[in-house]
Amino acid sequence: MAWRQANQVIGFVPTMGALHQGHLSLIFSSKKENQKTVCSIFVNPTQFNNPEDFEKYPVSMEEDLHMLEKAGCDLVFVPSAQEMYPNLTQLRFQFGALGSTMEGAFRPGHFHGVALVVLKLFNLVLPNRAYFGQKDFQQYLIIKHLVDSLFLNIELRCMPIIREENGLAMSSRNRRLSKEGKDKAGIIYQALELSKELFSKNISISEIQTEVLNLFKLNEVEIEYFQMIDTQDISKPIDHHTSEIAICIAAYIEGVRLIDNTLLTLNRN
Ligand code: AMP
Repeated sequence: MAWRQANQVIGFVPTMGALHQGHLSLIFSSKKENQKTVCSIFVNPTQFNNPEDFEKYPVSMEEDLHMLEKAGCDLVFVPSAQEMYPNLTQLRFQFGALGSTMEGAFRPGHFHGVALVVLKLFNLVLPNRAYFGQKDFQQYLIIKHLVDSLFLNIELRCMPIIREENGLAMSSRNRRLSKEGKDKAGIIYQALELSKELFSKNISISEIQTEVLNLFKLNEVEIEYFQMIDTQDISKPIDHHTSEIAICIAAYIEGVRLIDNTLLTLNRN
């Protein structure tokens, strides 16, 4: 609060901890663009539809705090579940088509929980800017909808996906993978690159879908969804004239659910 009163510009990075370079890239961007950087660590129970996923979510608080200190983060907010949810709310967030496809379809209630906790965190931290990763692109679109709809005076920044050498998007959940699992998970990035390449060769969307599903089948990796969406309007069917497309995948490796995506922007030259 004192920072706000002193007109300090505050950047905010909400996380669920088990930090990696992807999280740190958000901290570094915030540090560059703001006078103060606040990071929150809170494994939000209301966004987990699967209790086992919640219980197995990796926690490494000491390491996280050390990483944040080294990165020069000014303040770390680590609330308890009791502090964030002192009482039950009847409030329910609905996001229409945006909230009911992909993550919304396979994780019922997930985006309600995300919106609830992010709005609470925004109201507690009062940031000028908030940083999110493109890694959770649908989540970014949901939060953007929330901010736009409620006239929240917060500038959102969507930052690039930080990847391992084999293309695997960094994720706290990767800690649950074996070395072989991590190698195998490179298939997700390969599928995204393949889709991009096929799209640039004017291959139809349904053929791209078939090729990607085949790639996963051949490698015996379970895919939950592969979807190409119009980033401006998720309910609109896409074609080769859509100005920006997100190619999104959710897949299971060694029982761990992983998501990834890439953006395709129409070159108008
Ligand atoms: P999480 O702790 O998984 O809730 O993530 C906190 C923030 O970090 C979210 O905005 C994520 O999109 C972002 N993030 C997670 N992984 C990456 C990554 N590999 N690259 C960039 N941002 C990421």
